[in-house]
Amino acid sequence: MSRTFEDARRWAQLGTVLFVQAADLDDAALDAPSALPGWTRKHLVAHVAANADALGNLVHWAATGEHTPMYSSPEERAAGIERGAGMTAAELTGWLHRSAEELAASTAALSDEQWQSPVVTAQGRTVPATELPWMRSREVCVHAIDLGTGLTFADLPADFLAALCDDVIGKRAQGPGPALLLEATDTGARWELSGEGLPAPLTGPLHEITAYLTGRAHALTAPGGAPAPALAAWL
Ligand code: ZN
Repeated sequence: MSRTFEDARRWAQLGTVLFVQAADLDDAALDAPSALPGWTRKHLVAHVAANADALGNLVHWAATGEHTPMYSSPEERAAGIERGAGMTAAELTGWLHRSAEELAASTAALSDEQWQSPVVTAQGRTVPATELPWMRSREVCVHAIDLGTGLTFADLPADFLAALCDDVIGKRAQGPGPALLLEATDTGARWELSGEGLPAPLTGPLHEITAYLTGRAHALTAPGGAPAPALAAWL
């Protein structure tokens, strides 16, 4: 994997700006559906605000050594999203802004040594705190598109998209699914995913490959125009 810590910090900042700008909507627009099944935009904004608070818990853990998990339970995580979905636009965007600023401030205060501290993610993985900016950049960048206000993967930096494809391929390689051979026609990047059957060759712009691999709306087709093989949900 070729992404660096500095890359991830840059993408987390950029993605936060994109998400916060895209979520600057009135109540009617925020009550409209997001691109994620069953979620309004308010659910999604609440999820991203809660994610900043939860990552803030891991920053606290890294800074102090005190065991502070992202969420106390899956129920607490779900309750936060439901609570946010019932907020007014002003309350919700207030939470979004505040949570993003607090996370930026707490991460900026970490020392080099604290960044190396091990923390445990909500999925139960133990990672150094240096992974937190990457976790945040995935959330804000991908969910900025899921808001459904017009942003697409083509609006994200190509180096972020390539790092995201690396990440998703690594995750998908651990589960069942079709074998794939992907090639980005614009950057030349290639990915192989082992799986069932002969590898399906798929070529297209990097942003379409990223949309496909992350399970979002995409225009990627197999040679001859057949639909790309269906993939299981990713996040
Ligand atoms: Zn998410």
